[in-house]
Amino acid sequence: MAQSSDHPNVLLVEDEPAQREVLAYNLEADGFRVTKAENGEEALMLVEESAPDIIVLDWMLPNVSGIEVCRQLKTRNETRGVPIIMLSARSEEVDRVRGLETGADDYVVKPYSVVELMARVRAQLRRVRPSTVGERLEYDDIVLDSETHRVTRGDKPLKLGPTEFRLLSTFMEKPGRVWSREQLLDRVWGRDIYVDTRTVDVHIGRLRKALCQHGGNDPLRTVRGAGYALG
Ligand code: CA
Repeated sequence: MAQSSDHPNVLLVEDEPAQREVLAYNLEADGFRVTKAENGEEALMLVEESAPDIIVLDWMLPNVSGIEVCRQLKTRNETRGVPIIMLSARSEEVDRVRGLETGADDYVVKPYSVVELMARVRAQLRRVRPSTVGERLEYDDIVLDSETHRVTRGDKPLKLGPTEFRLLSTFMEKPGRVWSREQLLDRVWGRDIYVDTRTVDVHIGRLRKALCQHGGNDPLRTVRGAGYALG
């Protein structure tokens, strides 16, 4: 099974093996794909290839600390938008502020409840990748329900293949944003399989057709030399 937007990818950075495994187990049981890193260096290396949707990052790590990893990821263009939840045994208010000032999106104090942490993970994803947590997305007269996998346009159901559905969810999460073919490949097909960028064009063509199956304008825009956008 290739990566898909149905299973958000979590990069989990925790040097304590028992904590890492418990958290990974719970995340996987909840439908997440988990990439595990044992330290800061590994996290910075894996972030490229695993293209996470969210990062759960322990503060106290050997050598490169979680704070430093966070700082570096928040200064890189490719990773700036990925939410980071910091885990820390420090409960001092000043540390919490420092964690958030470094750019962390949320901060959870150890010992945490796994249930609460999972809720925080979903809350961050709802903000950046609503379709991965069962949200209903709307654009113009198009409604996509990512929980039931139903799409309607002007209240009429649309028939869409699974790839077209994932393409449309990606577009509907960020209307107006221009996606390059490579970005769509990463998002919709995943990096672990080889697909030619021409394939993207083929499925965009199918998606356009599907969106107009009951008439209406083509809402997808081709941006010459850049890619595609919704609206
Ligand atoms: Ca630690």
